[in-house]
Amino acid sequence: MFGDCEGLGSLRPVTTPALEELADGIYVWLQLPGETGVSNAGVIVDWDGLTIVDTLMVRSQWEPFAAAVKELDKPVKRVLLTHAHIDHVGGTTAFRNAMVLGSPATSALLDQPMPLEAYKTYMSAFAEEFDDLEISGTRPVSHIVDGAAQLTNRIELLPATGHTGGDVMALVADADLLFAGDLCFFGVTPLAFQGDPATWADMLDVVVELADVIVPGHGPIGGEREVRELQGYLRACVDARGDVGAIPSGPWDPWIDRDRDTINVERAALLARGDDALPPSMLKAIGEA
Ligand SMILES: [Zn+2]
Repeated sequence: MFGDCEGLGSLRPVTTPALEELADGIYVWLQLPGETGVSNAGVIVDWDGLTIVDTLMVRSQWEPFAAAVKELDKPVKRVLLTHAHIDHVGGTTAFRNAMVLGSPATSALLDQPMPLEAYKTYMSAFAEEFDDLEISGTRPVSHIVDGAAQLTNRIELLPATGHTGGDVMALVADADLLFAGDLCFFGVTPLAFQGDPATWADMLDVVVELADVIVPGHGPIGGEREVRELQGYLRACVDARGDVGAIPSGPWDPWIDRDRDTINVERAALLARGDDALPPSMLKAIGEA
């Protein structure tokens, strides 16, 4: 019984996610506020069934999501993985009969063994659930997305880079809506440990032209204003030239997870001198330094 009191020490706002219909046949499952390991997913209804966009991370997240999807009473035909990070791909086994779509980079990463100890160190709040995830595993990519493609009548897949070397976005033009994956973090500090902050910031010029409504990988729904704020932050990380203290005050001041500043600034500085290495602060965060 007292176990129910666990977590009361943490005062961050917690909302119970639910399948929310944003537009005709387009649902989002927002896990807010969207901190480390806590991401968003989506569902798009087409004539033949459903396309899932990302699958969350651990069972306590994806089981309720998959149950809500089942309530829609339509077959799950496709699972699109916007990129390979575990907080987006952990629930692929919940959709056993769907094709799994992802970039070549996502496919390659999912074929690697899970770096379980790194996950446990970096996302210690989920440490016990990662043991379960290691057993359930993740499904491999069955269909590679290596160029822009019309996936269904409604969904256009758009490859991108910036957050990782193999991001994919899903545009639903009839609803003027874009599932941006982790190319967008709203109200949450982005994480570029495998990304390129400069390229990412440039890519956001494309993102704002695509749709008015943006579903981010982390945080609440947004639009051009939120994308421009994210772009400003990423440019500030590049301009900081390795000095995290050089990030000025800005609309990012209230964002959560600002401890990622160091990772982002280090990563931008490494890339500026042609070094594609993981930032030292990230290595430390995953227990490898
Ligand atoms: Zn990510």
